[in-house]
Amino acid sequence: MNLAVNLADYRRAARDWLRENAPSDDEPGGDPIARAKDFMARLHDAGYSGITWPERWGGQGLTQAEERAFAAEAKDYTLPTYVFSIGLGMTGPTIVDRGTDEQRERFLRPLLRGEEIWCQLFSEPGAGSDVAALQTRAVRDGAGWVVNGQKVWTSVAQHADWGLLLARTDVDVPKHRGLTMFVVDMRHPGVTVRPLRDMSGRANFNEIFFDDVHIPDEHRVGEVNDGWSVAVTTLLHERLSISAGVGMSGQRDNPASLEALRRTLDTSDPLVRDELVELHIRTRALALFNQRLAQETSAGQFPGARGSAAKLLLAELYLFQADLATRLTGPESVVGDHPLGFTLAAAPGMALGGGTNEIMRNIVGDRVLGLPPEPRVDKTVPFKDLKVGTQA
Ligand SMILES: Cc1cc2nc3c(=O)[nH]c(=O)nc-3n(C[C@H](O)[C@H](O)[C@H](O)COP(=O)(O)OP(=O)(O)OC[C@H]3O[C@@H](n4cnc5c(N)ncnc54)[C@H](O)[C@@H]3O)c2cc1C
Repeated sequence: MNLAVNLADYRRAARDWLRENAPSDDEPGGDPIARAKDFMARLHDAGYSGITWPERWGGQGLTQAEERAFAAEAKDYTLPTYVFSIGLGMTGPTIVDRGTDEQRERFLRPLLRGEEIWCQLFSEPGAGSDVAALQTRAVRDGAGWVVNGQKVWTSVAQHADWGLLLARTDVDVPKHRGLTMFVVDMRHPGVTVRPLRDMSGRANFNEIFFDDVHIPDEHRVGEVNDGWSVAVTTLLHERLSISAGVGMSGQRDNPASLEALRRTLDTSDPLVRDELVELHIRTRALALFNQRLAQETSAGQFPGARGSAAKLLLAELYLFQADLATRLTGPESVVGDHPLGFTLAAAPGMALGGGTNEIMRNIVGDRVLGLPPEPRVDKTVPFKDLKVGTQA
């Protein structure tokens, strides 16, 4: 079998499909979530949703090569897939890896078809970088659990049907050992979602309050008090998917992309060309690094902490790109409604969401380079004896 020819055919078919089906700018308005859901269903019907996911659970059972071929064609479009990015990149792969067959059967196909939207409920007001210090409690209640507490910075939760929730189930053991992972119904009456606006003006993330929210035990992911290892699975997928841009829009509408800057700047100026070459090199280097990580994943070698290096490189690329674009465009780029103003204001969020740049550097230093780890006192002390937030 000639893989190259097949891949070329695959890519040509993807190109044709996108040309026919990708939404165009002049399509009528209406409810953007309904349109996004409709697009995901068509994407799935055409075989381009869950390209590498197991066929048994609604995926296509193909390889990273096909996924990359589709992504290469899709980057010229702005596909309405952002609202599914947490499900496709983080919570879905966690259910694939760590869920029960019943959970896979129930959740994965509707996720891939865009019928259900997911969010990730890890961070709390007192637990972001140190997420294992979280205080939301899940307490046994007959055949299920009752949850009380608060989460924050939860992306797309205002649209979500399901959330992957990390909660504390034991305070008498060290903090990492008393956590359990659940799937929570975001439409449960005890769940309150309040959107938060960031400095770019968007309200993409939320704070969430849980008041006596019931979760059946069938919606527990992994063993009781083994939630940290499930969370690590999610975080590894999160860093890989963020750096690879899973569910993100393509570059077409990005006013700081190389293509856009080549159109808008005076490229006869050698200093401008120098800067654009630097942007090209950084973008290409990250793409090649991501490609290598994806190939390793396909070959069954999970890249682990090196995903944190990729996520760090992406966050730095965003900041570099936004700074370069506004600097070369001039002061008008940050006044009024200039599209670069949004790019500049949104870029720092990439250095926080999915783990901050400092935390990514700690992980790379500790687990990739083998440097001495940070001194830790909280690995042996029971959670209830730690001075965490308002915890007594
Ligand atoms: C756009 C966006 C989307 C997000 N979406 C989600 C989501 O969907 N779900 C979710 O659960 N969370 C989400 N988050 C939250 C995100 O994971 C946290 O903001 C992040 O982990 C940092 O936590 P924090 O904000 O509490 O900052 P803190 O942990 O309080 O950190 C404050 C500062 O201290 C530094 N710092 C902390 N500890 C160390 C250390 N050990 N060494 C060196 N420096 C350190 C940090 O780097 C940072 O600069 C999102 C955040 C953003 C910005």
